[in-house]
Amino acid sequence: MNRRGPVIAIDGPSGVGKSTISRIIARRLGFRYIDTGAMYRAFAVAAHDEGVDVDDEDALERFCERVEFRFGDEGERIFLNGRDYTDRIREPSAGKLASIVSTRRKVREFLVELQRRIARDGCVVMEGRDIGTVVFPDAEVKIYLDASSRARAERRYTQLAPSNAVRAVEDVAREIEERDERDRNRPHSPLKKADDAVHIDTTELGIREVEERIMEIVEERLAGGGTDS
Ligand code: C5P
Repeated sequence: MNRRGPVIAIDGPSGVGKSTISRIIARRLGFRYIDTGAMYRAFAVAAHDEGVDVDDEDALERFCERVEFRFGDEGERIFLNGRDYTDRIREPSAGKLASIVSTRRKVREFLVELQRRIARDGCVVMEGRDIGTVVFPDAEVKIYLDASSRARAERRYTQLAPSNAVRAVEDVAREIEERDERDRNRPHSPLKKADDAVHIDTTELGIREVEERIMEIVEERLAGGGTDS
């Protein structure tokens, strides 16, 4: 490994709070924040816009060849072929599309390669589903966040509620369960905890408690110590 700084990998299922906590940890460490879910979402929405058949691996491969990603505003904005997708990728349909497109091997190979290139110098907090298992199996710190599906649905609902008042929490729960099912059971890079990741169940924890727990692990690991999962 020739990185100049460490990689902090944060994985876990939908709605567990990865983005919120990853941003906080990145800010505290002065590291770059990289949201790989946003990359799958933007890729999926753009492919859908262009009428690419998500069941056609060759068409997806051709699409990969003409896609260029760019990030702005400290990783908060995402551009694909010059177009800003930041707002559109937060629509619920984008999550579903992303979870379908992300089952395709060619798409994963393309995005994993890109993620490795973006983070090659280290000093990053990267969040997703397969960061500790596939993208950076040698990451210095690996965290696996989890929470009950009910708690995750409630958190996601609270996040969506202001813009999406008509949806019921049950709809959000169903969507999360469907997405979990696809993410955990796909043949390529399924969502799972890396053997050496530290598991944190956040069902009963507030954001500050999760933050402090992760900072303890980061400090311990970066100081050269080891923590058992
Ligand atoms: O994290 P987020 O909900 O934005 O991710 C959207 C979808 O993208 C996930 O449900 C998952 O299918 C896919 N994804 C993935 N691998 C990642 C990040 C996201 O397969 N590293």
